[in-house]
Amino acid sequence: MRYSALSIIKNAFSGNRDWKPAWREPEPKPHYDVIIVGGGGHGLATAYYLAREFGIRNVAVLEKSWLGSGNIGRNTTIIRSNYLLPGNNPFYELSMQLWEGLEQDFNFNAMVSQRGIINLFHSDGQRDTYRRRGNAMRLHGVDAEILDRKDLHKIAPYLNFDHARFPVLGALRQKRAGTARHDAVAWGYARGADSRGVDLIQHCEVTGIRREGGRVTGVETTRGFIGCNKLALATAGHSSVTAGMAGLTLPIETHVLQAFVSEGLKPVIDTVITYGGGHFYISQSDKGGLVFGADIDMYSSYAQRGNLATVEKTLEEGVSLIPGLSRVRVLRSWGGVMDMTMDGSPIIDKAPLDNLYLNAGWCYGGFKATPASGFCFAHLIAREEAHPVARALRLDRFQRGLLLDEGGKGPQPNLH
Ligand SMILES: Cc1cc2nc3c(=O)[nH]c(=O)nc-3n(C[C@H](O)[C@H](O)[C@H](O)COP(=O)(O)OP(=O)(O)OC[C@H]3O[C@@H](n4cnc5c(N)ncnc54)[C@H](O)[C@@H]3O)c2cc1C
Repeated sequence: MRYSALSIIKNAFSGNRDWKPAWREPEPKPHYDVIIVGGGGHGLATAYYLAREFGIRNVAVLEKSWLGSGNIGRNTTIIRSNYLLPGNNPFYELSMQLWEGLEQDFNFNAMVSQRGIINLFHSDGQRDTYRRRGNAMRLHGVDAEILDRKDLHKIAPYLNFDHARFPVLGALRQKRAGTARHDAVAWGYARGADSRGVDLIQHCEVTGIRREGGRVTGVETTRGFIGCNKLALATAGHSSVTAGMAGLTLPIETHVLQAFVSEGLKPVIDTVITYGGGHFYISQSDKGGLVFGADIDMYSSYAQRGNLATVEKTLEEGVSLIPGLSRVRVLRSWGGVMDMTMDGSPIIDKAPLDNLYLNAGWCYGGFKATPASGFCFAHLIAREEAHPVARALRLDRFQRGLLLDEGGKGPQPNLH
């Protein structure tokens, strides 16, 4: 069923009784050409592009919980392509371009909103760094501009411009950046993949990977053994666990990242703002809640909840940047389990096993990467070669010293 204004009108006349479920609930088949482990954004996008772009439809996505229960439904929804490094920039720009046509492409309202992002700077040195990043973006054909205090006063008069320690001096802006409704992205990809024949199997946890002579033959699951020609892992915060089932140790640590939403307010923040004096980012949802977050909890954990010290630090940063926030009530906070690599950049590559493929290490930035990650991972699985924009995201970069350290923070996963 194609969604359109006409279909809404037609269904309204029939009492909304004819809507079909957005995807089937199939029983697993004994064997698939490709099994994707993980029904988050990246797994679902990969299945969608495998079927749509590369004609590979005998595919199953195995998800241990319900589709979209992981980080894809827990993030702060920011999308952008304001990267410095040549290994990162073209990849995230491909993602941005896919976001721009996504809703028409998969016929689902993902509420993609290009409201822009503003990265504030607070010192002369930081201005130079942001200018350099802006120039690098423009050299790659990505939109970037520097705003001064006067511009910012018009856009965000509520900022603490004359903060004693971190005065707001200006910002780097990418106008095409913004937000998207995160769980609708998962639903859109799921529906698009299902309608092309992909089996989406929920409540099916992979508990082991069966191998014979250097090749994967299939997976042990809570619903029995399922065979496959190719196995793709897209399990985000559990990448080390699932790769460990194939005997691999990844250069990844697992950390919790928290997010927060306030009570609904009238429209006040019409862009995404990041604080250069610390690590704090904020936007306003269409329902009116202020959605914000900061750093990870800094210790390794698989718990989907964080600690109070980080809550306190996040709120301190928020109030330091926007003093009026102290009057706003926080409604909810939650945590997501994220995999952090040694250089803060992701991995899309073949594993050192013939038919095993890895999509991991998304750290803070995996939501914005969802379309390009799915597209490039599908390309790798179908064509057995890296997509040109994802060539730097290889696993052996850690061995060969070809790190993609966007933040220049060194081999410290918790600092990226
Ligand atoms: C609080 C928070 C805020 C964030 N904010 C942003 C942001 O604003 N912008 C941005 O770009 N990124 C953001 N991120 C990061 C981004 O959400 C993640 O990097 C990205 O969603 C990870 O990819 P995914 O969607 O595939 O992960 P997930 O949705 O976590 O998918 C992985 C899936 O694998 C499943 N799984 C794991 N093990 C197994 C198994 N053994 N068998 C079967 N299934 C399994 C899990 O249940 C899960 O559903 C944020 C993350 C968090 C936690």
